[in-house]
Amino acid sequence: MADILVYSDSLNTAKELAFKGKEFAAALGMGISAAALGADADETAAQLGAFGADRVFVSKDAALEGLQTDVVSDALAKIAKEADATYVMVGSTRRGKELAGRLAQKLGAGAVTDVNSVELEDGKLVAARFKFGGATVARETVDTDIKVFAVMPKAFEIEDPVAGAGTVVTPDLSLTPSAVKLVETKPKEGAAVNLDAADRLVCIGRGLGAKDDLTIVEAFCTALGGELGCTKSLCDWEWLAENRLVGLSGAKTKPSLYISLGISGQVQHTVGISSSKVIVAVNKDDKALIFNHADYGIVGDIYDVIPVLTEAVKGK
Ligand SMILES: Cc1cc2nc3c(=O)[nH]c(=O)nc-3n(C[C@H](O)[C@H](O)[C@H](O)COP(=O)(O)OP(=O)(O)OC[C@H]3O[C@@H](n4cnc5c(N)ncnc54)[C@H](O)[C@@H]3O)c2cc1C
Repeated sequence: MADILVYSDSLNTAKELAFKGKEFAAALGMGISAAALGADADETAAQLGAFGADRVFVSKDAALEGLQTDVVSDALAKIAKEADATYVMVGSTRRGKELAGRLAQKLGAGAVTDVNSVELEDGKLVAARFKFGGATVARETVDTDIKVFAVMPKAFEIEDPVAGAGTVVTPDLSLTPSAVKLVETKPKEGAAVNLDAADRLVCIGRGLGAKDDLTIVEAFCTALGGELGCTKSLCDWEWLAENRLVGLSGAKTKPSLYISLGISGQVQHTVGISSSKVIVAVNKDDKALIFNHADYGIVGDIYDVIPVLTEAVKGK
């Protein structure tokens, strides 16, 4: 039976792919397989089985150490053939995008990366992703026998795991060690930020008049229990680090609550927040584009509004 094969170096993304992949596989009369690779493969396999995979291909081959994409793509290409995969969905993480290209080359497949959503249409999976700097959405199908999609984290919602486990398969992959030699790893400078995972996100834009005024915004963020993000200028001016950038060149977020402060709402920013559940915008210009995206809008000066919001949140 043909299969959908899923893999990601991020466990959460792999679970999302397995969960949604099962739905697609059922509709297409296919099975759903997952790959669990590297030192944590046993634990990963259990999770992926619980989130829908019928079969989990497990490999702890020593060559997989560091999960270098040249070796992982080799492993996945072999697993895809053994699983008779028609579709391979990998997470469109930083490594996943490179992996998709390498894998597609090995499989003679077409690949689409940065996929925001996948739909089933006329017996085919159709991938949607932003084009022209986020100004439009392109819907794309792949015509090769095997199709590779790199799907963005959080593109699919997951529910609770099912009680059950996939069948574990241990393929003989005979992998060659990576051509890449890892010399050293260093932690990133600055506080760790994970905007992708933020449930409450506060973003600040050029409405902020001075770097020192960030303290007002940070106090609001702390009171709300939210993560702080920003628009491009604030990174360009080095007021905030690049890992706080939200939008086309930064994080594509999916919070329950997104609050924009002094942001105009240019498309390069809004592509990063369009999947938010509730959008609140504060801008002194009532014609600002951001209000077109907002569920709740406050027309006002952020210097007046932020302290009021902070007190209101503290009072809860
Ligand atoms: C290739 C490319 C990639 C890009 N990638 C990104 C990206 O990933 N993320 C991103 O954010 N941008 C990105 N940009 C930049 C983007 O085009 C916009 O320039 C940017 O998002 C605008 O930021 P802003 O809303 O903070 O500033 P502005 O557009 O200048 O808007 C400031 C807003 O603040 C309001 N304001 C001013 N003072 C106050 C006040 N006191 N109280 C309330 N409101 C006030 C104004 O009315 C205005 O609407 C990219 C651009 C390019 C060309």
